[in-house]
This record gives sequence, structure tokens and C-alpha cells, in this order.
Amino acid sequence: MINGISTDELGPQKVIYIHKPEPALEAIVVIDNIAAGPAIGGVRMSGDVTLEECARLARAMTLKNAAAGLPHGGGKSVIKADPSMPRVEKAKLIRAFAQALLDVQDYVPGPDMGTNEEAMAWVYDETGRAVGLPRELGGIPLDEIGATGHGIVSAIEAAENYSSIGIKGARIAVQGFGAVGKHAASFLAAKGAKVVAVSDSSASVLNPAGLNVAELLIFKKAGEKLIGFAGKDVETAPPEAVITSSCDILIPAARPDAITEKNVGQIKANLIVEGANIPATIEAERALHERGTLVIPDFIANAGGVICASVEYHGGTESQALSNIDEKIRCNVTQVLRMAQVENLLPRQAAVGLARERVLKASTFRRFG
Ligand code: NAD
Repeated sequence: MINGISTDELGPQKVIYIHKPEPALEAIVVIDNIAAGPAIGGVRMSGDVTLEECARLARAMTLKNAAAGLPHGGGKSVIKADPSMPRVEKAKLIRAFAQALLDVQDYVPGPDMGTNEEAMAWVYDETGRAVGLPRELGGIPLDEIGATGHGIVSAIEAAENYSSIGIKGARIAVQGFGAVGKHAASFLAAKGAKVVAVSDSSASVLNPAGLNVAELLIFKKAGEKLIGFAGKDVETAPPEAVITSSCDILIPAARPDAITEKNVGQIKANLIVEGANIPATIEAERALHERGTLVIPDFIANAGGVICASVEYHGGTESQALSNIDEKIRCNVTQVLRMAQVENLLPRQAAVGLARERVLKASTFRRFG
């Protein structure tokens, strides 16, 4: 335990506090582990960030990057400030933050809540090190190309041997119609799945015969909320209805804790692919496992974004990013589900075990372990 955060054989390896009275910068960087390579992890800007949150997120990145087989460790940083401040002020703060990291070669910042590709361009301008950059600086716009949605499709295809659910004709429900959910829905529809339910924060829309995903995309692009969506045979219900709707595959792609002990008993899906981070409690995942519902855990299924960021960092192209996402996610889903089956583990336990093993193995190649 150091300063109230727990430590173990993986890390954290470095905790950096940054304080500059002018321009009122308060930030923390946690470099959890760099055994496999420089740590990649987002810069979160929010008024209520803490060291504990930063350390937890940094560990999540260590496991996610290792599980994805990337030559990167995990880190995270937080800047305590309101992200909606005027752009000029924000640029000053982010540039000051980047300047403080000039010599911290083993951390590569990326975008997260409260920061975006423009913020990463400022970091890059100061230090020459950042991912999630604008296209003009060699960035690959991962949300625009649907990097995470691509990975979700690959995960479903790889799980076919374990779930017996093929994409063609499968009934899909997607919670959240944002960067992850809308792309997952449209790629799956293009492969012959029937998208029967989707939701945003205003409502769920359902049609057992299949929703018109192209119409939904146009509707949302116009800035509308699903509560106002009307189509032939479309039923509107509260936002949470999507989770317990009648479907074969459920993709929670909105918020943490969408699946809990309260609603797990009413879930109809046989396969759950976690697009969001921690969309189910561990108790709910266990209950699903016990009754034979297959869950592909978040940091395996939603790694498309970080794989894309890694390809960008190493100078790769958009098409290399897409083929890397497909290859790595297929391979990881297969390994995790095989290990879970053979060792009778929850897929999450198998995934964490696999990731830890990779980090520990990588550390045997380093002088200071
Ligand atoms: P986003 O903001 O683009 O979209 C979120 C969607 O969820 C929106 O449609 C919003 O209306 C909806 N939503 C919010 N609350 C809801 C509720 N209570 N019920 C139903 N819908 C609700 O966000 P995103 O980038 O798509 O990210 C979604 C989740 O996936 C987050 O947990 C994020 O951390 C995680 N994630 C994103 C990526 C990525 O590449 N963007 C990668 C890995 C993980």
C-alpha cells in the first residue's frame, strides 16, 4: 500500500503528482506497468477525479493492453478541472500538463472523458507523444471508423464454437447507440443479423421483426433522441427495457452496471458481448455463467479502440488497424473461452489470468523485472 493505493507484483510502478499554480494545474499520472512497452492510457479531465480512480483505471489498461497482445503497458492520467472551460484555457492547461511529462518517456497519453483528438494534438505538439490524434497528424479516427464495433463483430464470430449462435439471422439487442453501439448494430445488420432492440438515454425502440438500422443512424445523426423515433411496428419503451428484451445476443454498450442482480434473472440473451466498460456486476456475470449464458468480458470484447491506437502509434494505416483488431480479438476470444471451458472458470477470470500471465512473462525480459 502506498499513499492509500494498493500495490502488487504488477504495479503501480510510478505515480506522478503535478501541481502548477499558474495555470492552476492539478494532475496525477499513474504508470501501472511497462513490462511489455510504454504505457498507453487516456487523459481524463473532470472536477472530481481521484488518485484511487486513476490507479484503478491504469490497472484496467495494463490488463486490457496485455490481453490484446499489444507491446504496451498500462497507465492513466487525470486532470482535476472542468472540461467545459473555454478552449483557450483548456489548451493552456493541457499544454502545461504535457510539458510536465516531457521526460516521462514511458507514458503515451490518449483521449478519455473530457479530452479529445484536439487535446491530443496539443500534447503531441509539446512532447511528440500521444495517440488518438487528428487525421492530419497521422491519427486514425477510431470512433468514426467504428474500431470497437468491428472488434465486437469479430468477438461474436470467434465465440460461435462456444455459443452456437451465428450472426446471420441472430436477434440482436444493443444498449447505447453511440460510438460503440451504433457501429456494432450496423456492422451486424450488414452481416445478416436482425437488430430487434436498441436504446439511448431517452428510450428503447423495439421491433421483433427487425429495426431499420440505416433509418436509425440517419435519425440519430440529425441529433434526435430515440424517444421520438417512429417506424412501422416499432414499439417504444423505457431505456432499460433493451436489456431484458427478447433476443439472442445482447450488447451492453452504454454504462457501467447495466446488468445487476436486479435484472439478471429476466435476461433472455444466450450470448452477451460487453461493449461498455464494466456493464455487469461480477455477481450478475456469475449468475449468467451458472445458467449457461456466455459473457465475453469487456476488456476482451471492446479492445478495438486501444488496438487501433497502438497501430496509430506505430505508424500503421486504417486498414492495418482493422485487420489487427480482427486478428487479435478473434485469437483472444478463442483463448479465453477455451481456458474458461477447460478450467471451469468465468470468462472474466480466464481473461484476467491470461493478461496477468502475459505481463509477468514480459517482465522476465526486463532488467528490473
Ligand atoms: P457514446 O457517448 O458515444 O455513446 C453512449 C450511448 O449510450 C449514447 O447513445 C447514450 O444515449 C447511451 N446511454 C447513456 N445512458 C444510457 C442508458 N441509461 N440507457 C441506454 N442508453 C444509454 O459512448 P461510447 O464511446 O459509445 O462508449 C460507450 C461505452 O463503451 C463506455 O462505457 C465506454 O467507456 C466504452 N468503450 C468505448 C470505446 C470506444 O471506442 N468509444 C472503447 C472501449 C470501451
